[in-house]
Order: sequence, then C-alpha cells, then structure tokens
Amino acid sequence: MSASDENSRPRSTPVRATGSARTQVRPKTEGWTQQKDAEGRPLLQFASPKRGKPPVHLADLTPAERVEKVKELGLPGFRAKQLSTHYFTHYTSDPAQMTDLPAAQRDELVAGMLPPLLTEVKRLETDRGDTIKFLWRLHDGALVESVLMRYPGRITLCVSSQAGCGMNCPFCATGQAGLTRNMSTAEIIEQIVRANRLIAEGGLGGVSSRSARSTTGPDRERVTNIVFMGMGEPLANYKRVMDAVRIMVARQPDGLGMSARGITVSTVGLVPAIRKLSDEDIPVTFALSLHAPDDELRDELIPVNSRWKVGEALDAAREYFDKTGRRVSIEYALIKDMNDHPWRADLLASKLNSRGKGWVHVNPIPLNPTPGSIWTASEKAVQDEFVRRLNDAGIPTTLRDTRGKEIDGACGQLVATSEDEVAAAAMA
Ligand code: SF4
Repeated sequence: MSASDENSRPRSTPVRATGSARTQVRPKTEGWTQQKDAEGRPLLQFASPKRGKPPVHLADLTPAERVEKVKELGLPGFRAKQLSTHYFTHYTSDPAQMTDLPAAQRDELVAGMLPPLLTEVKRLETDRGDTIKFLWRLHDGALVESVLMRYPGRITLCVSSQAGCGMNCPFCATGQAGLTRNMSTAEIIEQIVRANRLIAEGGLGGVSSRSARSTTGPDRERVTNIVFMGMGEPLANYKRVMDAVRIMVARQPDGLGMSARGITVSTVGLVPAIRKLSDEDIPVTFALSLHAPDDELRDELIPVNSRWKVGEALDAAREYFDKTGRRVSIEYALIKDMNDHPWRADLLASKLNSRGKGWVHVNPIPLNPTPGSIWTASEKAVQDEFVRRLNDAGIPTTLRDTRGKEIDGACGQLVATSEDEVAAAAMA
C-alpha cells in the first residue's frame, strides 16, 4: 500500500460501531491552552532550553573516565571500581556504608563521584503497595516522576527522560508545560538505583508470600524492566538516553547488568531517531506510541505527526524489526469516540499487515476514565471489539493494564501539580 493510499480514507467515511452510529470527538485541550506557533500549529520543542547542568556523576562517565576522575581526586584508579560496586550493586551513595574505602578520603570521594541528583519530594502508593509513584526534585528545582510497579514475575520502572516535554500532545498533562530540560544520563540511572534501593529495603509491596521475596544475594529482587514512558520524549534526548541504556545493560559493577530485552524505548514517532536506534547494537524493545492510524486524526492528537506521518513512522518501525529481529510494540491509548472506532482498528490492521507478518504487536491501553471530559476511556465493549478486529486480522493484540491510574501515574498523567511545586520549593 502506498503512503497516498494509506492516507486516502475519506473524511466522509461512515463512523459506525457494531450496529450503531458513532460520533467523532476531535482532540482539544481541556483546562489549559496549548502553546501554538505563529501559524497556529502546536509548538514543538526539540531543543532543550539552556539551564545549569546537573553535577557530573559516576553514572555519566565511562569506566575509563571514572578511573581518571578518581585519580584527579587524588586516589588510585582501582577505587573507581569499588565506588561503582557500591552504586550499581549495593545501590548506595552513603559514605558510611563504604567501609572498604579509606575513611579519611571517603566523604570527599563520594562528594566528587556520587553527588546527590534526585531529592524525593513525594511518594504515593496504592493500597497493596505494589505501585509506587515518586516525585523527584532535580538540582535546579525541575520536577520529574517515576513509577514502580510489581507484576507477577517482574518489577517494572517507568522512568522520565526529560523534565517536561516539547511534543505538546493535547491529551498529555506533561506536554502542556513544555520542555524544561533534558535529563542527564546519571539522572535517568539514579531513578533505577533509588527504586532498587527501596526494593532491597523491602519497600515494594504486593508479594503474597514473604518467602517469595529475596532482598539479599544474587537472586534478590530488583527492577527487571524499564519503560521510558514517564515524562519526556526519550528520542528527543537521544544521546543521554542511549548512554543510560548502555549503563543499564553493562555488567555489574560497571553498570546495572540488566537485560536489553527488558528495556522499552518508546517514541511518538521521531523517525530519524528511530532509524538511528535501529543501528545501535542494543536489542531493546521498541515501542511506537501511535494512538491513531490515520493522519487526519493523528495530526491533531500527536502534533509531531505533522513532521513525520503515520506511514513514515510505521516504515521506520518495520525497519527496526528488520535490523534487530525484535518485535515492535504499537501503543494505542483507546479514547472514547475519538480513536476507538472499528474502522480505525481495521485501518491499523491493514497498515501493519501491508508491511508484513509477525513483526509487530499492538497494545491498546484504555485511557484513564475522566468523566465529563472528551479524554475518557473507551467503553469495555468497544475496547473488546477493537482488540478482536486486530486479532482477527492476524495482528497479536493485548489490552494493556493501566496500573498506576489510581495514583495518577499512568502514561500521560505524569505531571507535577501546583501542590507538588510548593512541596518541592519548601525543600529547596
Ligand atoms: S504523550 Fe509523551 S510525547 Fe506527548 S507530550 Fe506527553 S510525554 Fe510528551
């Protein structure tokens, strides 16, 4: 199917659910004004505004650079390995726990190599304690969040990669404040280290049997999966995000020793960066947040679509599969009467099938229900119909859990409230 065929769905196409007429709700902001450029299009911000850089941290450096930095601080190079072990294996930045380092220089060494990056402002947990949202304050007062979730057999951390976001999606609270700045590699990694520390201390609930949990030894629990679906568009902060991924997969003690397959890098469709990611030699899981199969709707729903169209993003996603052999995920937030029409399920299936079989699966995610808003979850029967149509067309499709929604921690919900700003300011 050519790109022009793909985009040729007529505006007048009847929009019908099984047996009943369906309306078409169009995206618009509610409760905020979307930033626009001189031509009235949503403002896209790719470059990070100039702000003071966060302090350089061990996790910003390669192993060789760590050795150099430790020598600059007047200690032998092998101390870098010891510090890395404390940080990446024991998840500590506390000099008091580093008894293998010379007592006289410990504080100075830690201050120079492991400066504080994230101050915890607030923590929200679900009743079972199996989902925890952290609000962090960065060195310059910017606020970011991460969400830790226990699932059967895995622990997932949703991390932020930017403070704010420049992609300006009208449904997303994060996008409304614009891009404050890119996060550093170490700021991204520190979210994981802090989550691992909490898990090691037994702070993540949701295990039915205490005996199933190990907090010490090689089998101890820790974050197994990372999703870059917190604040920010990860591919707009490409270098730091990829450096962070390299540290995640590097063997301990040089890094966190995670499996690349457990790391999901998502994007709203920055095509040149998807191509670059395909050429990296790290087989992460790649997710394209599509949310609409037709350009007419996607132009409004995901403003970056005005730069790279649905067809181009899908072509780049298919190339990712061709180069890495890793099946691509298509994320699709199901929004009532906006993008959940049966014909859209069929159109999505046909666009995916036109690019071959077996390369993709679709994860529809019911949007958080917001009664009275245009941005609300599709009805259950509509969700089921959407999933059934894709599956019937041979596209593996699984309705995704919206864990975290009870604490506003689901994707597109991560934004600091004015109350958070006050709490953070009080700590500054
Ligand atoms: S949905 Fe993602 S890309 Fe869009 S504004 Fe929100 S954080 Fe940015």
